[in-house]
Amino acid sequence: MGSIGTSMVQQKRCWRETPLVESYALSKAAGCRIFLKLENLQPSGSFKSRGIGNLMLSHLSKAANASKIHFYSSSGGNAGLACVHAARTLQHPATVVVPLSTKPLMIARLKAAGAHDVIQHGASWKEADAYLREVVMMEDEGGVYIPPFDHPEIWNGNATLVSEIGYQLDGEKPDALICSVGGGGLFSGLMQGLDEMGWSDMPVLAMETKGAESLHASLKAGELVTLPGISSLATSLGATRVAEKAFEYGKRNNVKSVVLEDKEAAMGCWRLADDEGLMVEMACGVNVALCYEGRLQKVLGQALNKESKVVVVLCGGSNVTVEMLSTWRKEFGAVESELPQNDSVPSAQSAPNGISA
Ligand SMILES: *Cc1c(COP(=O)(O)O)cnc(C)c1O
Repeated sequence: MGSIGTSMVQQKRCWRETPLVESYALSKAAGCRIFLKLENLQPSGSFKSRGIGNLMLSHLSKAANASKIHFYSSSGGNAGLACVHAARTLQHPATVVVPLSTKPLMIARLKAAGAHDVIQHGASWKEADAYLREVVMMEDEGGVYIPPFDHPEIWNGNATLVSEIGYQLDGEKPDALICSVGGGGLFSGLMQGLDEMGWSDMPVLAMETKGAESLHASLKAGELVTLPGISSLATSLGATRVAEKAFEYGKRNNVKSVVLEDKEAAMGCWRLADDEGLMVEMACGVNVALCYEGRLQKVLGQALNKESKVVVVLCGGSNVTVEMLSTWRKEFGAVESELPQNDSVPSAQSAPNGISA
């Protein structure tokens, strides 16, 4: 793990080294070796523990009076959870302001994780965020705002993923890396990490869902654009505008921006549950969808064989329940009948529309 200005002990407290496991089911489906980096096992349930944990540590190490620090987030999603989890580990309070539309499940999760307070305010995220900055934080001298993705210390934290993958593979370079893109904090961290490893030419698939494709739209336009809104169910990818840094990295030759539909991301979730016993949200399911469809080689534009190693960053996420998985499978199950048949993968046997039947 690279040294990023904080002690190893502190780092370990906010996030952990996660296993890198080869999935035989996914490898079978994809025709190459698929390795899953299990970021769903982070304390907060997603990779966000790394970047946000690192940003919070950097605030504490720089503060003149660190004991007064109170962290604030306006994310009702995984960024808020990561903030609350890290704050609890570091024994500082964290308050989260979320819009009224935030689901009771996420509020309950934030509270269970140990939030000092969860305040519901405003009709949209914008209103909640403004209320947090202009009202709630005004009353607190020790208040520190924690953004979700656009900060160099967040990228530094997320970059630790790459050195970890490096030594878990005994220094052998993977043939490709797959990750999803919301605001681009994960993607930027990974790109930085690849540079630090001397792996700058590694093919990277930057995955988004239709209706949340802010990176793709910017690359297509040749300039940073803001989407008029988000229509994808993969809400954790729902940043209308990516970080400038992510846009810059996205223009590199080794990066392919790929957009899939919600139904494909949903399929990734229920099949991962049936094949590997892993429950992740749509923002994560989108990363495995291409493996099942056998489109990986085509999309990469490069030949893969049985020995090729592809690492999927299983970013995780808490926006999923047993009920949601089951609903997605009922609603989007037809997508499977459109795919090439491969009934040697366990999840094909449980497919609602009977790939093998
Ligand atoms: C936040 C998040 C993303 C997107 O990360 P960005 O850094 O915003 O690009 C993807 N998947 C999950 C599960 C997330 O929580």
